[in-house]
Amino acid sequence: MTVREGDPVRTDAGAILHEVFGYESFRGAQQEIIERVAAGGDALVLMPTGGGKSLCYQIPALLAAGVTVVVSPLIALMQDQVEALNQAGVGAAALNSSMDVSKRREVWDQLRAGQIKLLYVAPERLLIDGFLEELDAFSPALFAIDEAHCISQWGHDFRPEYQKLGIIRKRFPGVPVIALTATADDPTRKDILKGLGLSDDDLFVSSFDRPNIRYSVEPKEQPRRQLLRMIRERHAGEAGIVYCSSRKKVDKTAEWLREEGIRAVPYHAGMASQQRSLNQQLFIREEGIVVVATVAFGMGIDKPNVRFVAHLDMPPSPQHYSQESGRAGRDGLPADAWLCYGWSDVVLAQRRLAESDLDPTQRRINHHQIDGMLAYCESARCRRSTLLGFFGEDGIEQCNPEGQRCDNCKKAPEMIEGMILAQKALSAVVKTGQRFGKVHVIDVLRGKANTKVTRFGHDRLSVYGIGTELEEQGWHSIFRQLASRGMIRIDLEGHGGISVTQKSRELLRGEEEFSFRKDAITRKASRTKKKKKLKLDGLDSLQSSLFERLRKHRLEISRQLEVPPYTIFHDSTLVEMSQMQPQTLDQLAMISGVGQKKLEKWGRGFLEVITVQV
Ligand code: ADP
Ligand code: ZN
Repeated sequence: MTVREGDPVRTDAGAILHEVFGYESFRGAQQEIIERVAAGGDALVLMPTGGGKSLCYQIPALLAAGVTVVVSPLIALMQDQVEALNQAGVGAAALNSSMDVSKRREVWDQLRAGQIKLLYVAPERLLIDGFLEELDAFSPALFAIDEAHCISQWGHDFRPEYQKLGIIRKRFPGVPVIALTATADDPTRKDILKGLGLSDDDLFVSSFDRPNIRYSVEPKEQPRRQLLRMIRERHAGEAGIVYCSSRKKVDKTAEWLREEGIRAVPYHAGMASQQRSLNQQLFIREEGIVVVATVAFGMGIDKPNVRFVAHLDMPPSPQHYSQESGRAGRDGLPADAWLCYGWSDVVLAQRRLAESDLDPTQRRINHHQIDGMLAYCESARCRRSTLLGFFGEDGIEQCNPEGQRCDNCKKAPEMIEGMILAQKALSAVVKTGQRFGKVHVIDVLRGKANTKVTRFGHDRLSVYGIGTELEEQGWHSIFRQLASRGMIRIDLEGHGGISVTQKSRELLRGEEEFSFRKDAITRKASRTKKKKKLKLDGLDSLQSSLFERLRKHRLEISRQLEVPPYTIFHDSTLVEMSQMQPQTLDQLAMISGVGQKKLEKWGRGFLEVITVQV
């Protein structure tokens, strides 16, 4: 389908963008997608988190006569989206199992009265017997399938009900379908196209680069302390997510952060569900909460001003990492994706591989993903380009200087020639019998005559004391890098004894170059130089204090209305208010994110905050 110059669709979509959502212009492929869908075409939209997927179906919904059905997997998320649309003056409602019968009846009444443009439903509800028949009476105009990767078994959020959504096509053959996801890999993409009966022509792929996210990896020394330092130095008082691999670690870390004065709450599947949803609500409704969580937390967390996502353990795949870290900075303002990585993660990676009782194909996929994640952590190249490379985006060589730059682009890591070091390390492993742990082998290398070394007579070996050129820390880093490259194996059953692999034998024979990155020792570095707090888009101190006052005003309104603050205005809108300092309602209306309804409701209140002398 083509859209001719001057088609009414175009101007109407633009008008809605402006009047309802308060935005100046479309982003990326938004306009093209909206035009296609509004004209009855289908689309599969692959855009990173924060890319602006919602408008791609919300604007066509407002252009169409009739109701748009949005399938969304999480009830909490639905509620927030409905809230945000209502605040902007759009008729929207949700139908889900958490509502009682009378509430549900109310929604059906509103539907019959034609008051609802967007109806959010969980897939389970859509598939309940008779639901589609009931829906038929309202001749749905469009189906939007959010988080569409849930359809794929390959992905990491597989939901069996999603696989049945193909029924929509059969039941409503003429009605367009738009599917949206932030998971970009090829197998997932294929599964979605097939499952929903879409074609390659329907595909819209955006770049997955998130220029406002600063990626960095720190070698693990005292991970919790490192985390605390990162929060204090760069994100004091701001909202963030800390991911850990186990429930126990989640509880402990949250408790510890609280003792250190951070407003931290835990979140994992082992908690009572009431407490869990309380903590989630706190995170969404209040400012500056840090959630410490397992992977159970996050899908559908729409909070736009998450300023950092920290990982205390390495996630199992680049897909996971991209998804989880992508929850930072949806609003486009600077944010951090910070990962603390060490030997324990290499052990965890090997354990994941050993324990998976999967079929050979799945095992190969797993292997590939874990290797990818290890490569990301050990990379001396641009983190951004390494991460994007996993999703088939090869164009990026390094971070764009106008965005946030990753640690490796900011300061290229020091590399050391590695063949001799690798040879020394590997022969020490072999000579000590391939059954001792890393610490012991390093003691032998460094010539440390402690009782264990002498008891086994390892002080008489030829490798004893041949590694004095590196500090202990340096050797730990070498062993970690050898293990992550598959050069040594860790005995997972026993006491973590290490042995060499076929690959390392090849390395020792080969003549290829081999180098290691020298870990930056963070403790020393940060004692001498205090890092700057990440500045919100270059606000000076007067503007920052205005921003804080606007934020407070927003929190007051949101508490009164019992809605999340960002459904009032996003941080980016408050930042612009602080910079432009509008004095009249007309000036305020020029600010991005201020639509007509919001201007009427809250314009005066925010103007007062701006114009009041302090
Ligand atoms: P996604 O669902 O892709 O993660 P959202 O739809 O939540 O992203 O959009 C992310 C942010 O970008 C939201 O704050 C949204 O209001 C904003 N946004 C989307 N489109 C535009 C646009 N054309 N101009 C300005 N802001 C936009
Ligand atoms: Zn970079």
